[in-house]
Amino acid sequence: AGAGHSSSSFRESSVGGKVPLGLRRRALRVLVTGGAGFVGSHLVDRLVERGDSVIVVDNFFTGRKGNVAHHLQNPRFEVIRHDVVEPILLEVDQIYHLACPASPVHYKYNPIKTIISLLIDDWWLRFNWLLRWHKTNVVGTLNMLGLAKRIGARFLLTSTSEVYGDPLQHPQVETYWGNVNPIGVRSCYDEGKRTAETLTMDYHRGANLEVRIARIFNTYGPRMCIDDGRVVSNFVAQALRKEPLTVYGDGKQTRSFQYVSDLVEGLMKLMEGEHIGPFNLGNPGEFTMLELAKVVQDTIDSEARIEFRPNTADDPHKRKPDISRAKELLGWEPKVPLHEGLPLMVTDFRKRIFGDQEESTQ
Ligand code: NAD
Ligand code: UDP
Ligand code: UDP
Repeated sequence: AGAGHSSSSFRESSVGGKVPLGLRRRALRVLVTGGAGFVGSHLVDRLVERGDSVIVVDNFFTGRKGNVAHHLQNPRFEVIRHDVVEPILLEVDQIYHLACPASPVHYKYNPIKTIISLLIDDWWLRFNWLLRWHKTNVVGTLNMLGLAKRIGARFLLTSTSEVYGDPLQHPQVETYWGNVNPIGVRSCYDEGKRTAETLTMDYHRGANLEVRIARIFNTYGPRMCIDDGRVVSNFVAQALRKEPLTVYGDGKQTRSFQYVSDLVEGLMKLMEGEHIGPFNLGNPGEFTMLELAKVVQDTIDSEARIEFRPNTADDPHKRKPDISRAKELLGWEPKVPLHEGLPLMVTDFRKRIFGDQEESTQ
């Protein structure tokens, strides 16, 4: 697709900006683990568009085949059902390692009785979920690093702002080591990703592996899991279904919400650039949950009611990325503000919830 010739003397670079035609990069073989998920599938779209051969490895635990179904006829695209906890042999130039189930604590107060929310009430099943979670972050990341080492591929880890825990520094800069409870209910997420970062740097230092680390802040957009319990998907689905918006705690805790296309551009710039990171990739626009609820009301239904619920333990009080490093070294900054990105997600959710004829924004 996108690797074809252009009639002008410049072509649009896949990661933004213009590239002189003579310097056109060769098509790469790229592995995206977790490529059938929310972020992964948008990344796959961009990689396929620029002409790369893309392999998705996904066990469809929280992802959907439908997210990448539109590429299945493309001979340069392949999807493999595989759990990264098991070793795998592949030959690629770059690995974007996204595979990771969403955090289990999120399902705790999910009012929709999905199978998952039922599972989470059962401690034995919850324990099994946590084990799977840890295995994916630790053993899965180890396997993908081992694969990258064997074939000499460049490896990008999608870490998270959760590594900062309940931060004592605001906004969070990459040099901040974080404030994480190692034995709390959400430590599986924080500590799992922290271990993944450690493994990544160990392979870089010990095996000379080319690595990149992105610390992703809360991201939203089309194809997000509808009932995964994250705040943006919850509020949007609730407003569309005429249910009350569930605000946890007093609603004064803050988050910074990034539209998915901005994230994907940041990930690709990071992979193609010279710098290891870690880099914060997020939108510095900071909102309390009550302010977010107001944006959702303004976008979907001004009559939507708010209902307060108890908050989860160890919930970070505030979160906002300092993105100076990414601005300076990657030439990246987010472009889509919440009031522009949210309607794009709403269109997609409306279509998936009601199955109406509305045009997809994807
Ligand atoms: P997602 O759940 O939509 O995607 C993750 C994908 O990984 C899914 O397709 C899932 O089926 C797959 N997967 C899970 N375990 C696997 C395993 N063991 N083997 C193979 N595949 C497996 O989540 P997302 O929001 O797209 O997140 C992508 C990455 O970005 C994750 O690593 C996540 O931790 C990170 N991240 C996301 C956000 C966000 O706000 N979306 C914030 C911080 C970090
Ligand atoms: N691995 C993999 N695919 C490969 C190479 C390695 O899945 O092509 C896995 C391997 O099974 C191991 C992990 O990556 O569990 C770490 O590999 P490495 O070679 O670094 O360590 P070792 O196998 O020597 O313990
Ligand atoms: N939250 C909320 N209502 C919901 C879901 C979440 O008020 O229906 C709050 C949650 O307590 C947290 C914030 O929204 O303070 C962000 O939660 P999310 O799970 O989306 O992301 P994370 O906590 O991982 O940043």
